[in-house]
Amino acid sequence: MHERLYKTHAVVLRRYDFGEAGRQLVVYTPNLGKLSMIAKGVKRVTSKLAGHLEPLTLSTIVAARGRNLDTVTQVDTVEAFVHARTDPDRVYYGLLVIELLDKLTLEGEENRALWDLLIQTLRRIDAEDDPWAAAAYFQVRLFVLSGYKPEVGRCVECEQPLEASNIHFSPTLGGTLCPNCRTADTRAFAVSANAVKLLRLAASPSYAAYARIRVPVGVRDELDAILHSSRLSITDREVGSATLLETLKRSSYRPIGGRREP
Ligand SMILES: [Zn+2]
Repeated sequence: MHERLYKTHAVVLRRYDFGEAGRQLVVYTPNLGKLSMIAKGVKRVTSKLAGHLEPLTLSTIVAARGRNLDTVTQVDTVEAFVHARTDPDRVYYGLLVIELLDKLTLEGEENRALWDLLIQTLRRIDAEDDPWAAAAYFQVRLFVLSGYKPEVGRCVECEQPLEASNIHFSPTLGGTLCPNCRTADTRAFAVSANAVKLLRLAASPSYAAYARIRVPVGVRDELDAILHSSRLSITDREVGSATLLETLKRSSYRPIGGRREP
């Protein structure tokens, strides 16, 4: 007689206070997409839910269907991603990932490929030397899987193949422009052939091929500019964690992803 109950893997994307000791959660799941849930009493020390519903954690949730919102009845941590949640160099990339995923998805739309990408990315940000690479790959793949695939093989305007130089990127049109079409978007900016190549690799489903590339700092900065302008164009405003990351980069803080030549 437990038809009301269901069990799912979940990653918390956002939390709000709910009532005196509870929280409303926005979670991402493999089979139900994004959904909102209530966790009652979760902020009480005695709650068995406490400590299991942190962002950047893979959990198993048992929830009871409600008329409006479902209620969490049980939760277990499956993967804690300890480095991604405690190492400041990694935390910001993790937060950027879940915030952007939240921005680009609607509730109740299942997307198994996005779920797999999310979990793989959290593992990479947690374990790999360079969390920047994993976060950049995630963003480009998220754009592709959400219907914003950047056009990088040819000119997005006239569809001619690109030359090796004088390439511009248009965040508004979502792709590269040839010299003849560069004025099609006043916000278009020059990009190198290497940055275009990296963007093309990041758009492909093979992380291995992308991760093999040793990316020079200049090209990394170019991809950051492409991602920043694309986020602005797609979501209308920059996501908060990216703004924070930028601020930290400009101060004395230096992410491990941002190795710079002396
Ligand atoms: Zn063109």
